[in-house]
Amino acid sequence: MTKTDHKLIRSTDGPVITRFAPAPTGFLHLGHVVNALHVWQAAHDRDGRVLLRMEDHDRQRSRPEFEAAILEDLAWLGFQHDGHLIRQSERDAIYRKALQPLIDRELVYGCSCTRAQLAAGSGFPSTSIRASRDPGSEIPYRNTCRNQDLALTDDVGWRLRMEPGTESFFDEIGGPQVQDPSAQCGDLLLRDRLGNWTYQYAVTVDDHLQRITDVIRGLDLLPSTGRQIRLARLIGRSAMPRFAHHGLVMKSVTEKLSKSDGDTGVRELRAAGWSADAVLDLARRSVTLPL
Ligand code: GLU
Repeated sequence: MTKTDHKLIRSTDGPVITRFAPAPTGFLHLGHVVNALHVWQAAHDRDGRVLLRMEDHDRQRSRPEFEAAILEDLAWLGFQHDGHLIRQSERDAIYRKALQPLIDRELVYGCSCTRAQLAAGSGFPSTSIRASRDPGSEIPYRNTCRNQDLALTDDVGWRLRMEPGTESFFDEIGGPQVQDPSAQCGDLLLRDRLGNWTYQYAVTVDDHLQRITDVIRGLDLLPSTGRQIRLARLIGRSAMPRFAHHGLVMKSVTEKLSKSDGDTGVRELRAAGWSADAVLDLARRSVTLPL
């Protein structure tokens, strides 16, 4: 096993820059409002800035009408961001440039595995193969194509060789954490077979290039943090951000809220006559549970 633990240098000095980064694949719901409250509060407490990033890397599922609705709901709730909005769908050249040194070091390879093939090897249905946010239900890729020498063309996935080894970091809410990304996810998918940059890759490049000092997000993304630290180091980030993963608004004790839960959508609450203050209050009072 390669020892890849590093002492994390954290970006603790200088101005705080955090971000709110919704995916425009649905409307704003109470879970987003809880996250926004955490993000804007952290910035407010330390005289920091909040950048707004549309994480529309999944071009098949993202829709301009969701983006417009998210922006409108955020403004209605009174969340004002700093600087100009960026969209991941407009950053292809940036993602390619950031990847080139890794390609030059032969750390990236082509992967022809289909979702059905990945599922066949895992014993899980192919619908559960999309990168999982539920700790414990993630299915690591078995690195099947690692030595196939497939070219990095547009019709194959692009994966990063992930050597075994742990990443340790401190979560501002949950305390010390240790993760072994290669055991969790195998060789990490950076670009999918449809030509979409993945969440893991795009978010890591953007957090680095936007000099984000504080990544504040829900607990469902805690398992992603070790791999994002690994990737950030590989693309040249030396000082890591602080991380804080807060509790989620749960639909029930076992089910987290999803965008399809129209009853907790900000749109629906607005239509039902709620004021912005009442929605913010509801988010503050919502039971948030660890997974
Ligand atoms: N885009 C992600 C989401 O909508 C959030 C990403 C992050 O905060 O790292 O859940």
